[in-house]
Amino acid sequence: MKTCCSGCSRLSEELWFSRRKISFIILGLSAPCNFKCIYCNAHDGMMIDKWKEKMKQAIELLEYYDAQGLIDGETEIQFVTGEIGVAPDRERILSILAKCRSSILSNCSVYVERIAEMLRSGRSRIVVSIDAGTRSAFQKIRGVDLFDQVRANVARYIESGNVILKYILLIGVNDDDENLKGFIDFCHEVGGFQVVLSRDTRDMGNVATERPLLSVISRFAGALQEKGITVGVRQREFTAQEYEKIQAQIPSVIGTLPRE
Ligand code: SF4
Repeated sequence: MKTCCSGCSRLSEELWFSRRKISFIILGLSAPCNFKCIYCNAHDGMMIDKWKEKMKQAIELLEYYDAQGLIDGETEIQFVTGEIGVAPDRERILSILAKCRSSILSNCSVYVERIAEMLRSGRSRIVVSIDAGTRSAFQKIRGVDLFDQVRANVARYIESGNVILKYILLIGVNDDDENLKGFIDFCHEVGGFQVVLSRDTRDMGNVATERPLLSVISRFAGALQEKGITVGVRQREFTAQEYEKIQAQIPSVIGTLPRE
């Protein structure tokens, strides 16, 4: 079968695990999104005329794996492709994801009952960036005025299951006390007890922002932990030196949250 992976130099014939099922898939394509986040170019994906063809191939490939019995409840799929809520093939995609353990990156602008059902199954979870504690910062960062709608949908999803809240720190934009407090209050209000702190990865290696970034992470993580919230940072989103300093400053911050 010819797929979008055919011809890739990373493909090779080697010994394989004894489990004759697929263990892990990350599906990440440029695809439509209804947000215009300042740190992301996915919305430019609307301009990429090939995304529809790539998405069609990816879905067909997943359905092919499923038909071959290569996907089961132990397979983990991370879906990080545009916004699932507005994806034209949403139901086809969710039909596959519902059979697996899945992580869905969503902006939560659209509440999808099928996703809530998947959360209730305990095998799926949502990762959603909130990035702000005030409406104005949210609008500035996410490019849309949907602060209340997103928070309301997140609260509904949390009632169903596992939702990880992410805060991408942008120095000078959302690192002030009002935003941090607004976010902490929101976590507390909706029962969001797992938070990932991140940064604008385009800023990696910028020595001018390293000090304020590490300082706000330390302050923010401490304040979240005081409320009983588990805080994680992803190692790959920081330089080795930054990550070392974060661990030294706040050893209780975990490098990863469960199943990441
Ligand atoms: S919601 Fe996600 S995919 Fe959409 S523009 Fe923002 S970061 Fe990109």
